[in-house]
Amino acid sequence: MSSIIEFKHVNKYYGKLHALKDINLKIEEGQVVSIIGPSGSGKSTLIRTMNGLEPINSGQLIVTGYDLANRKTNINKIRKNVGMVFQHFNLYNNHTVLENITLAPKIVLKRPDAENKKIAMELLERVGMADKADSYPRQLSGGQEQRVAIARSLAMRPKVILFDEPTSALDPEMIQDVLDIMKYVADQGITMVVVTHEMGFARKVSNRLIFFDQGHILEDRDPVEFFKHPDTDRARQFLSKII
Ligand code: ADP
Ligand code: MG
Repeated sequence: MSSIIEFKHVNKYYGKLHALKDINLKIEEGQVVSIIGPSGSGKSTLIRTMNGLEPINSGQLIVTGYDLANRKTNINKIRKNVGMVFQHFNLYNNHTVLENITLAPKIVLKRPDAENKKIAMELLERVGMADKADSYPRQLSGGQEQRVAIARSLAMRPKVILFDEPTSALDPEMIQDVLDIMKYVADQGITMVVVTHEMGFARKVSNRLIFFDQGHILEDRDPVEFFKHPDTDRARQFLSKII
């Protein structure tokens, strides 16, 4: 079986800054991978390359069968398979909650209206937001916005969802609701790559942990083992600061 995401000797520069250094990484279908590491180490860059938000400079990157290094690859085909949830939600502010969910399936998947609405309402129910279907994003709390953003991502029935610090902008009392929904996503068998500071999620929900530092994968391990015995001094130092 081939991997759903595969990096081979991938490098990425911002001008002279070498942000991703010779990345080799295979992610298998259904894996839940947490990426942790210091600020500025390249975690966002790494996951943003996985749906073509950041182009790579060299190497090979195959995502759901599409070659991201090939200029001829249609990025929209990859984005049909790969959803993304951001730290700051990025909902469409001039659309209702329901429209936020139905828009992409209508335009990209040509999903018929009745079915589209039914699926959207089921997802809103699932994330506890059905009663806000006709509200606008500005009327929601951050935690509610993020729940809608995850439902929006799920509505596309993606194979992979990328999460970039999905709880970092939330008030503490809202974090658990979002983490619970992410656990539900994991239980659906959707492949997840999650940049996170939530060590509880990393340890309990993910089945693989990547410690990223200075553009490199320093550790790629079972999460429980990692938290018990980090292999590297850098990881030990990092954990001692945050736990
Ligand atoms: P992390 O998500 O781990 O905090 P990032 O991937 O955001 O790290 O950033 C990695 C490095 O690349 C940092 O030094 C950051 O300043 C730099 N960087 C990120 N995005 C850009 C950009 N668009 N242009 C120039 N430099 C960038
Ligand atoms: Mg980041």
